[in-house]
Amino acid sequence: MYPRPFEYVRAESVGQALDLKSDTGGRFIAGGHSLLPMMKIRMTSPGTLIDIGRIDDLRGISSNGGFTIGALTTHSMLASESAAGFPAALKEAAGMIGDPQVRNRGTVGGNVAHADPASDLPTVFAALGATMTAMSKGGATRDMAAPDFFTGLFESALNEDELLTAIRLSAEGESQGSAYAKLFNPASRYAIVGACAVVDVDGDGTCTSCTVAVGGLTPKATVLESVADGLVGNPITDDSAEAAARAAVDEVGDDIMGDLYAGEDYRRDMLPIFVGRALVAAGARAG
Ligand SMILES: Cc1cc2nc3c(=O)[nH]c(=O)nc-3n(C[C@H](O)[C@H](O)[C@H](O)COP(=O)(O)OP(=O)(O)OC[C@H]3O[C@@H](n4cnc5c(N)ncnc54)[C@H](O)[C@@H]3O)c2cc1C
Repeated sequence: MYPRPFEYVRAESVGQALDLKSDTGGRFIAGGHSLLPMMKIRMTSPGTLIDIGRIDDLRGISSNGGFTIGALTTHSMLASESAAGFPAALKEAAGMIGDPQVRNRGTVGGNVAHADPASDLPTVFAALGATMTAMSKGGATRDMAAPDFFTGLFESALNEDELLTAIRLSAEGESQGSAYAKLFNPASRYAIVGACAVVDVDGDGTCTSCTVAVGGLTPKATVLESVADGLVGNPITDDSAEAAARAAVDEVGDDIMGDLYAGEDYRRDMLPIFVGRALVAAGARAG
């Protein structure tokens, strides 16, 4: 399939990208790994593509107590980040995305702006409590908490005239551990079920806090409150994690989506297994 004809312009700076957006009403393109396939099947046909892929200011990870990840940082860069305190779940999830071509071209900004329910990074950012920063023409910026950023199936809180510039995260503390577990589609490697757990433990190995987010089976990355109720105050073992993870099924309820690759019932059965695995792996990394 070929896309409909389009104009192509390359932005050299964030300011120019936003001016071009305002002038042409076009669509940003970063790695092109989600947008171009959609254009080829004509699910979308922008009149102008605004290539932001060479704006160096948007690429890379900087640390200043926490971490700021530029929107053009690739999945490979996330997976190979070695700074102390960089969240293990994020490295792990980025390393599980697609194949080497996708990880070398796909960007964190494109991944979250696209808000594909089967993507991995939205789930991780929701669990980590990340903050998304968007900029509009003139340079005004707006911060959004990750759980509020993902609003529905392929929908985010990003306004049409905004460019996502960066994502901010706290550094992982010594008593903290995080992990991502995924049941992946064997062809595309997108998530059928994705679960991210972030836990804190005290000196005795007792869980003192726990945040779990899931994706793949829900229309958007979803933070689950009920899993923590069963785990906080207990040591994190295979049994306690499995028992706590069962609450995920009730909390997700009717929000579970099925498709050609995996039906609703199958995903519902898999959900506590992958939540449990993420909890146990996060617990093993904490403390
Ligand atoms: C074969 C294959 C397998 C894949 N497997 C996985 C997987 O296992 N897990 C997973 O999570 N993903 C997977 N992906 C998706 C991949 O991670 C994409 O790279 C990512 O979703 C989009 O990033 P991109 O840079 O290519 O964005 P693009 O395709 O360039 O853009 C996607 C959308 O985001 C918008 N956009 C891009 N950057 C910005 C910005 N800075 N501000 C505002 N809007 C912006 C664009 O306008 C467009 O609407 C796969 C893709 C392919 C082709």
